[in-house]
Amino acid sequence: MKRILAITLLLTTICCSTTKDKDKQNLILLGLDGFNWHVAYPMIKQGLLPNMEKLMEKGMASEFKTYIPTVSPILWTSLATGKTPQKHQIFWRVMSNKRDDPAVKFSFSSEERTCKAFWNILSDYNRSVDVIDWWCSWPAEKINGYDVTFSYMQYDEMKDSISPPEFLKELNDQKFDIGVPKEMSHWIKNAQKYLPEIPKDVKFESWEKRKAGNNTPTEKDVLQLISERFKVVKDVSVQDNKVRTISEYILKSKRVPDVFAVYYWYPDLIQHHYWKYMEPEFFSVNPEEMKIFQGVVPAYYRYMDGTLEGMIDRMNSKSHVIVCSDHALYPSPREKQVSENLDVMLIVNLMDIVKKYPDVKVNIHDSIRILRTFDIKFPDNYSQNQKDDFKKKFTDELKAIKGIKTKVPLFSNVYLLKKGEMALPFKEGKEIYLIDPADVALVINYSMDIEETISIGNEKIPIKKYTPYTPQPSANHPDAPDGFFLAYGPSFESGVPPQKPEILNITPTMLYLLDLPVADDMDGSIFLPLFKEEFKKTHQVKRIKTFEDATKKDKKEPMKMDHKGKLLDQLKSLGYI
Ligand SMILES: [Zn+2]
Repeated sequence: MKRILAITLLLTTICCSTTKDKDKQNLILLGLDGFNWHVAYPMIKQGLLPNMEKLMEKGMASEFKTYIPTVSPILWTSLATGKTPQKHQIFWRVMSNKRDDPAVKFSFSSEERTCKAFWNILSDYNRSVDVIDWWCSWPAEKINGYDVTFSYMQYDEMKDSISPPEFLKELNDQKFDIGVPKEMSHWIKNAQKYLPEIPKDVKFESWEKRKAGNNTPTEKDVLQLISERFKVVKDVSVQDNKVRTISEYILKSKRVPDVFAVYYWYPDLIQHHYWKYMEPEFFSVNPEEMKIFQGVVPAYYRYMDGTLEGMIDRMNSKSHVIVCSDHALYPSPREKQVSENLDVMLIVNLMDIVKKYPDVKVNIHDSIRILRTFDIKFPDNYSQNQKDDFKKKFTDELKAIKGIKTKVPLFSNVYLLKKGEMALPFKEGKEIYLIDPADVALVINYSMDIEETISIGNEKIPIKKYTPYTPQPSANHPDAPDGFFLAYGPSFESGVPPQKPEILNITPTMLYLLDLPVADDMDGSIFLPLFKEEFKKTHQVKRIKTFEDATKKDKKEPMKMDHKGKLLDQLKSLGYI
């Protein structure tokens, strides 16, 4: 009842302002990793996501354009800076094709970001801003508000995990009892009815790994897998509930800031692993597992919708809300498609050109989902012409690798990069952001049938042979399906916009809403279709050359390994790498 009342008040904009300055626009930014319309829209139609339904009735709804690679730290930092990875320098690299032991290098800290995020910019203008659980936010930065970092949410009391530092004590003094969120408790109760006793200290994926060794799983193995899957849902929903509890505490006990931004990581993970129980027609799913897990993804969507409730309670007549995700997901039945784990190096080593020039060394430079880049090293005595000739033949031969039956190319794009080139056009205007300059980049054609046979030189090889078994998620986002965008507020238009907003639009759009300038060195622009005509008439776009200080912030070396180690362990245990 309280929620319905709050929404009514919000939508009729008759409620009283709780801020001192009644004319100041404010914004709540809710970031939901992997949230998408494919799941949300039917649920909204059925009245199962009541908060989003109300926002959608009077607000603007659209898909949200994203980029390749869809790697959360990169995308959420681009969203928070309005800049491409080349400018913010937050990267995530996989240096090897071997998924069992990937040489992963990743950005984790705010110190590695080389430009200002919106929380820095707003603080510079003395605007209040709270930022909760954002990627690459640790160590917490001194901002004009509360910075509760990703590291605090995931690992509790790491040094510098909260700003201002005294807020850490305040939070600890609250002794929050963080359990399973109310929207998930019904599902959990129901699942427990079907669950065997949960083995203690189980590690996710242990069963999948045994399967990889071609051992037929025993009944005990299956029970253990089911228990593990259940445990993961429960654990991550409690983890996200920490984000929700602290967000609601700040919103209720403090002022409404100019911008309140909060991010939830686990809708992505839940969909990666549990989508198959929602759309079993694409998979072969054990009926016992179905009984337990079929409701997980919808329950998690209800949970994420529920996180809006506490925010809407605090909105006033000048409040706006934007809910967005960094990408969508779609079902990826491993049996039917080439996976992103395709061992491209094994294929490269079979190529005629590579065999013909054994003194030229081709190595993987980066491997991120379906994107691979290569370095080519030539002996000193090679002329520029010889080098160019090799590179051209190498890319031409890669392009020519096709399925014998379907004639579908194995690589949907092969690029010969110019020296220092880092960004490439992708389909429908999507951009690929490469990590560093490399010599050649290619994109695996994810829609290729895994039963196909390819011919390289004189050899005919089934693709399956080059696709190592790895625990495969049931939904994925290799080629960056567009995400979710929903916005509501007194200055915002309603309906579907003429074009899709994109990740780089958010920070400039936020600045325009708050009557602040937008910087010329931002790659994103204001998403003008979002604003009502009367707002645009009364609010000129202000511009500034840059928000960066004259002394450019240098990229610091990545932080202490134990923090990274914790994240790496966590990513492995959750099946991300
Ligand atoms: Zn994901």
